[in-house]
Amino acid sequence: MALIVQKFGGTSVGSIERIEAVAEHVIKTQQQGHQVVVVVSAMSGETNRLLNLAKQIDEVPSARELDVLLSTGEQASIALLAMAIIKRGHSAVSLLADQITIKTDNMFGRARVEHIDTQRLKQELEHNRIAIVAGFQGRDSEGNITTLGRGGTDTTAVEVAGVLHADECQIYTDVDGVYTADPRMVNDARRLSKISFSEMLELASLGAKVLHLRSVEAAGRYQIPLRVLSSFKPDQGTLISYKEQCMVDSAVTGIATNKDIVLYQCSISEPATLSQFLSALAKLQVEVDMLHQWCRQADILGYAFTVHRNDHLAVLALLQSEPFAHTINDVVFELNQAKVSLVGMGIKSHPEVLASALTVLADQDIYPKLMSTAEIKASFLVSETQLHGAVNQLHVTFLR
Ligand code: ADP
Ligand code: ASP
Ligand code: MG
Repeated sequence: MALIVQKFGGTSVGSIERIEAVAEHVIKTQQQGHQVVVVVSAMSGETNRLLNLAKQIDEVPSARELDVLLSTGEQASIALLAMAIIKRGHSAVSLLADQITIKTDNMFGRARVEHIDTQRLKQELEHNRIAIVAGFQGRDSEGNITTLGRGGTDTTAVEVAGVLHADECQIYTDVDGVYTADPRMVNDARRLSKISFSEMLELASLGAKVLHLRSVEAAGRYQIPLRVLSSFKPDQGTLISYKEQCMVDSAVTGIATNKDIVLYQCSISEPATLSQFLSALAKLQVEVDMLHQWCRQADILGYAFTVHRNDHLAVLALLQSEPFAHTINDVVFELNQAKVSLVGMGIKSHPEVLASALTVLADQDIYPKLMSTAEIKASFLVSETQLHGAVNQLHVTFLR
């Protein structure tokens, strides 16, 4: 008998028919002799609907109240799934974050899980009840409702699997595994039967939203076998493997893309200004992604950096406030930028990858505005209009 945590995303519980199908699937797993804990997202579109309601009241709503609102989507779906299982004569119980004590920090909208109590879950499993846990939500130390960031139900699932020492955490979604690129962008993308943990971590951090980044980090922390599968067709899906060898023959294993990026360029004459500016951004919880420095003139340094579109107004306000309004000059920014990134264990031993990528992009008249390389990844900043061509051309070159 194994203990399996199964997570179902929004599309997988997107209608009453889908919820009924998930109920059948979960019962079948239990009938195969396994203990099952289920973690569920809100029905697809529900979180966006709630977000839209909030924005009709205030474009920047209170972060605490937004979490109270957004977390309701999962409360509805766990209850509906429990009803569907109970209707079939099986025992199930829906559980909110505070009912099993999912403690997080108090960063509303992007809270981090700090602790999960296993007592209630173990009790339910001992009684042979299927525990259905609300994904995406937690409680801070003062009892406030928090949420883990968009896509955060994956993280709830892996954290729950980790504390229960589950035999496997299965992420059921609307694709049948992890592909060489987002199959919605690249028609020729291929499913990988296995991917190494490090590569999955890079792909998730570079924008492959098939897994929430923190869920991959948590899987590594607990060394929990993690599998991505389709809730629509039965198959083995993709297993995230902790054996760090190359899983594929090519230098590149996958390509990730990221949109909604803003590129800034500026000049600074006093070197200490940069660290002051970066600390001010950190205080505002603004994450700087790519950052490049070059020598503009004898004593003037040029900088280029990128942030997410959601942080653009905060960055502009900071640049216009003192002391930065005087110490940072020649500020220009470009909206609608995108990043395309190659990921693969083989990149470190194939120095020609970078040159080939640039040649292929130049053939399409794409000249990246920024680049960054590290051991197993290489990223290129292009404009959003160039993204589709760039990712497809790179896929043909490295992954066909
Ligand atoms: P869920 O609602 O089940 O959590 P998500 O929409 O968050 O599903 O994640 C699944 C989506 O991730 C897929 O529909 C696909 O478009 C996208 N995706 C991005 N990169 C990849 C990739 N490399 N492999 C598979 N899917 C990917
Ligand atoms: N319902 C949340 C979202 O739409 C969490 C999740 O689906 O993982 O982002
Ligand atoms: Mg998701």
